[in-house]
Amino acid sequence: MLHDATIAQLAEALRAGEFSAVELTDHFLARIERLDGDLNAFITVTADSARARAEQADARLAAGNATPLTGIPIAHKDIFCTRGVRTSCGSRMLDNFVSPYNATAVEKLEEAGAVMLGKTNMDEFAMGSSNENSYYGPVRNPWNRDLVPGGSSGGSAAAVAARLVPGATGTDTGGSIRQPAALCGITGIKPTYGRVSRWGMVAFASSLDQAGTLARTAEDAALLLQVISGPDPRDSTALPDPVPDYAEALARPLGRMTIGVVDDFFDDGLDPDNAQRVREALSVMEQLGVTLKSIRLENIGLSVPAYYVVAPAEASSNLSRFDGVRFGHRAGDAGDLTEFYMRTRGEGFGAEVKRRILTGAYVLSAGYFDAYYLKAQKVRQLISEDFARAFREVDAIAGPTTPSPAFPLGQKVDDPVQMYLNDIYTIGAPLAGLPALSMPCGLVRGLPVGLQLIGPHLGEGWLLRAAHAFQRETDWHTLAPPGI
Ligand code: GLN
Repeated sequence: MLHDATIAQLAEALRAGEFSAVELTDHFLARIERLDGDLNAFITVTADSARARAEQADARLAAGNATPLTGIPIAHKDIFCTRGVRTSCGSRMLDNFVSPYNATAVEKLEEAGAVMLGKTNMDEFAMGSSNENSYYGPVRNPWNRDLVPGGSSGGSAAAVAARLVPGATGTDTGGSIRQPAALCGITGIKPTYGRVSRWGMVAFASSLDQAGTLARTAEDAALLLQVISGPDPRDSTALPDPVPDYAEALARPLGRMTIGVVDDFFDDGLDPDNAQRVREALSVMEQLGVTLKSIRLENIGLSVPAYYVVAPAEASSNLSRFDGVRFGHRAGDAGDLTEFYMRTRGEGFGAEVKRRILTGAYVLSAGYFDAYYLKAQKVRQLISEDFARAFREVDAIAGPTTPSPAFPLGQKVDDPVQMYLNDIYTIGAPLAGLPALSMPCGLVRGLPVGLQLIGPHLGEGWLLRAAHAFQRETDWHTLAPPGI
């Protein structure tokens, strides 16, 4: 079936004229129409503009100036600004916001000829690990509708896993690409901080936020990443380094690679069956010629507390722009300005966002700055140094992506600490600005789990090559959710 094909296969078939981009787009739009009712992976479906773009793609394919992504249907997490299309960020605050411009990542995919089918559901302002914090309701996991898909890019992950779209964008501040990729059984990569421009991406925690891609294979994730990466004069934190040819990196043999294994990651907090799948994946890596080496990351145990100080601090500052004056939700009939702000922000933000703003304002306040924010920044530095030390000995670090497979909707949503602990394996990489990916490495009680690979600065080529080599040996990435 068309929807089981990878982006690489679809691109080849489009070039060979086996079907048109319009036919491909209609096929996926029909699937969204039929299957998204209970999944709730999309906030907005842009069927008309998708058909128009597919027609343009067909013209380009006929003219012979297509790129590998011309005519390929994609979806964007609703955190990316899309011209003329609502950009809600999963929040009531932006429910009425139609962006007047495109994010750089959106613009680049549009220029490549990719066809946007719509905007995907997400935790409000990307705060969450289960996609239960969306104003538009939770996303359901295609493997079992009673379970969470992981967050915050849960809509993108569920849409790709359910074959509603072959690839999507996401963002990762503390794990939001890798966690939903793991829990939905797909591949997701968060590149090095600054590899993809943040321009037009609604800001959560600016020193951590990074865009990346979700697809079923590492090869497809690489095709999308290739296009969205690169310098951008509109984002001073976008890295100036040229983007390597990831397809070429994938094609090269794995060669001699040493992968570090953090023994502390396999402690009591990790579901034993999940641990077993990760160990099996590591032995496949060994068969591929990889040398495994046990390593220690001295301060990694402090990553969750450090992150949950730094990220809310930045969020409390970034979200101050939502004041009801310039754009977004505005409360009616307020008596005075203070009441206007209070009502606007009280109505516009959900519970988790309010919790972050309160925490952030508290840790930044004059009396507590040194005790919390400054301390967390120092811990962050120590964690970065731990990684730097490890990467003098190994090419990548492997381990689980999440502590367990997908959990039931509602199970952790009222217990923020439990929810935050879900990020234990994914938060280290963004704190250190490092690239990391997750790919499917087996099933636990019938549900997918992920193997995480963390790389050195600008090491996404390494990670993609290792993942591609693994996916040539195994077929976990080809499994579809039951009934899909
Ligand atoms: N779960 C983490 C949080 O809630 C990470 C979210 C993200 O990466 N956007 O902040």
